[in-house]
Amino acid sequence: MTISVLDRQHAADVQPAPRVPLGVLHDAAATVDQDLLPCRINDAELWFAESPTDVEHAKNLCTDCPVQALCLDGALERREPWGVWGGELFLQGVVIPRKRPRGRPRKNQDGGAAA
Ligand code: SF4
Repeated sequence: MTISVLDRQHAADVQPAPRVPLGVLHDAAATVDQDLLPCRINDAELWFAESPTDVEHAKNLCTDCPVQALCLDGALERREPWGVWGGELFLQGVVIPRKRPRGRPRKNQDGGAAA
């Protein structure tokens, strides 16, 4: 048995069944004016952007969303693999504080790579 098989089996063991399905969020979003949902009136790619600046912009836009709390609860329950949901950035099912820019790690002042 390879490590990847073990990882998949372990992941299947620990992931709970989603209690807030995406359909619930869609139903809730359908009851509010679509013009009040930032991810509907802006470019949706912003919520899955590569640029840390764009990701922070999406997080800020979510703060005005009328379904933010439900969106965040659902994303936590579903362990969203990535993207901005409910004003938080998700990566591999957990909230992370910020997106790291692409590229090599910064070097220390002495010329070595940062740990
Ligand atoms: S809180 Fe959810 S539904 Fe609202 S704008 Fe953000 S991602 Fe979209």
